Amino acid sequence: MKPAPFGYAKASSVEHAIALLGQYADARILAGGQSLIATLNMRLSAPKLLIDINGLDELRQIAVSGEWLEIGALVRHAEAERSPEVARHAPLVALALPHIAHPAIRNRGTLGGSIAYADPAAELPACLLALGGELVVAGKAGRRTVKADDFFKGLFETALAPGDVLTTIRIPVAREDSRCAFAELARRHGDYALVGLAAAARRDGAALHDVRLAFFGVGATAMRARTAEAAVGLGTDPVAALARDLDPGGDVQASAAARKHLAGVLLRRVMAQLTEPRL
Ligand code: FAD
Repeated sequence: MKPAPFGYAKASSVEHAIALLGQYADARILAGGQSLIATLNMRLSAPKLLIDINGLDELRQIAVSGEWLEIGALVRHAEAERSPEVARHAPLVALALPHIAHPAIRNRGTLGGSIAYADPAAELPACLLALGGELVVAGKAGRRTVKADDFFKGLFETALAPGDVLTTIRIPVAREDSRCAFAELARRHGDYALVGLAAAARRDGAALHDVRLAFFGVGATAMRARTAEAAVGLGTDPVAALARDLDPGGDVQASAAARKHLAGVLLRRVMAQLTEPRL
């Protein structure tokens, strides 16, 4: 199918993009286009104007600032995959990136696009929840920082208001005692996950502290399994506690019961990764 007719504007700065968003009631940011163009072609959305932010070099940086790794919204999945800063300071993100789609899509798709789109089965929102990340959002009233825990509101719904541009993803840099683990099950490599889990913790000897478990593919958004997190702290079985956290739906790919079972399987695998000795 062909998309409905739309206009095109190339933003010359973040402020220009915000001004254009304010001028047109139905305008949409175009980043990598890997999700947006498909929804246009299927006529699931029909914005009147696409605002192309691909020329904005200020959104392409990967840098450490104090205790944070800052990744510009326009950094492409493939760039982040090759980045030594991401591998060193955000190893959980480095583990997750190869699971996102296929190389051709990762060459164009951006981290900001994935997070703004907020697919419930996407990897990066869960990584940000597990790591305690933050998002910097620019809008008419200036810039604000939103914690990942407050960003993902519902199915494809985020804290981004109309007129907002996501500019930067902030991740606390990994410390010496940081541990992370990642696991997902998909029908084929590169498909969206049936169920996935991103996890982070601090390790002190054999003990794990500050365990954060973020599932994806099991609800309307990526979500923390807070009862299971608490169970790890109490030394009880987190898999048994998981039933209180997750209530996944079923679909043609997997029943609700299968998703619940698989979530437990992934949690066991991830707990084993978190506790294994560091090489
Ligand atoms: P776009 O498609 O350009 O934009 C997506 C949405 O976000 C649009 O609404 C746009 O307006 C908005 N947006 C983009 N950037 C900003 C910004 N800076 N500020 C505000 N709003 C913004 N993703 C996964 O996570 N896991 C997968 O397994 C996976 N598999 C895929 C398989 C296929 C076949 C395809 C086509 C895509 C898949 N994707 C997957 C999606 C892919 O990761 C996309 O790149 C990503 O979802 C969107 O990034 P983008 O840069 O292409 O955004």
